[in-house]
Amino acid sequence: MSAQKKRVYVETYGCQMNVYDSRAIRDGLARAGYSEVETPAEADLLLLNTCAVRDNAEQRVLGRIGELQQYQYARPEVRIGVLGCMAQRLGEKLVEKRKAVDLVVGTDNYGRIPELLEKVESEGRAQFDLAVDGTTTYQAPPEVDPLNNSHFISITRGCDYRCTFCIVPYTRGPLRHKAPTQILEEVRAVAEGGGVEVTLLGQNVTAYRHAEASFAQLISAVAEVDGIRRVRFLTSHPTDFPAATLHAIAAHPEISPWLHMPIQSGSDRVLRRMKRGHRLSDYMAVVDLARELLPDVAFSTDIIVGFPGETEEDFEATLRVMRDVGYDSAFTFKYSPRPDTPADRLADDVSEEVKRVRLARLLDLQECLWAERGRAMVGQEWKIAIEGTDQKGRGFWRGRTLNNRKVLIPERPGLGIGDELRVKVLRLEGTTFFAEPLSLTWKYDRVAA
Ligand code: SF4
Repeated sequence: MSAQKKRVYVETYGCQMNVYDSRAIRDGLARAGYSEVETPAEADLLLLNTCAVRDNAEQRVLGRIGELQQYQYARPEVRIGVLGCMAQRLGEKLVEKRKAVDLVVGTDNYGRIPELLEKVESEGRAQFDLAVDGTTTYQAPPEVDPLNNSHFISITRGCDYRCTFCIVPYTRGPLRHKAPTQILEEVRAVAEGGGVEVTLLGQNVTAYRHAEASFAQLISAVAEVDGIRRVRFLTSHPTDFPAATLHAIAAHPEISPWLHMPIQSGSDRVLRRMKRGHRLSDYMAVVDLARELLPDVAFSTDIIVGFPGETEEDFEATLRVMRDVGYDSAFTFKYSPRPDTPADRLADDVSEEVKRVRLARLLDLQECLWAERGRAMVGQEWKIAIEGTDQKGRGFWRGRTLNNRKVLIPERPGLGIGDELRVKVLRLEGTTFFAEPLSLTWKYDRVAA
């Protein structure tokens, strides 16, 4: 690839962690002389930052590589690289599946991409780096748009748990924690650029522990950065949720009392088979304490139905936990075995039909419970921050409460993105509340912010 043709196009799949990593990858490539382009047709280097959590995510990427090959046919100097969890999982098999791939880089090695590309040219063959050093973290520059809600900052990578259904420990490696100084530097850069909200990310963010700070100390320090008005974090694990974390949230009005805490199953028997490392009672202890300390707390969760060995009784326990907690939202999945995970060795003995019916029952229950709880919120007064316009173009501002509830208010002169105001909830449609503005409580001023 000649020097004047260093144009890179990056496509990102999967979670916000990948979105963050892609920013760090772009930044590294910019420093190596690459300029970013918006479409694959303009690029000399096509990078796919991938996800391996579900089979359909991988199939999409394989299909996409096939599509991108047309650019190589048109210009043989175009290079295709696959990064991220799928690259880590499949390694050299990726090149066997798709000959167009020139570069396969695992999750700990993005810093080596420019050097590996040079080797692709000098050696005339595909290059791989799948080494897991267990210490790598990345630091991405803050997003350019200060009004972007929210600025995602990755604070941990990997996971030390071994939930039997999960590929993450094998694709992202062991848990490692970014230094608080580094995180605070990123948060300050966001604030200095006019950003007011950050979301701290990690597969298991509440397990953050650095020699210099616990998670509770870290979120407190982030909330105290000048200019930062809202701090969110995800994903939480009940085993790593000491009371100190809840006390830190309670002590800082900037920290969101929204806990995305996967339960996966309400049955201790299934939790054991999943090797989740906690029982239902541990989970409920966090929920109960959170309710006691955080009056506005809202919960969301992930649930798998039809895990190997799940009986009707186990499933009923999952329905019960949904009723007991009262989630704002639940991401629900039918179990499907992932190669290379321990659960893949268990008999996938719940039939597809039973999984389908259980999933439908779970979704129905969540919808009913939420409709009931949501209706009870009509008439309440909330504080929201405006995040943008309604995507359906109906003349509404789109806002969110600190505990993550979506609210639409009519567009009014004098209001704009970033502003905070009190609203009165008028009605609920699906998961969105419609409200009327009451009073402006804080005006976003790009210059002063
Ligand atoms: S805690 Fe989360 S990321 Fe870690 S192994 Fe379990 S499901 Fe995967």
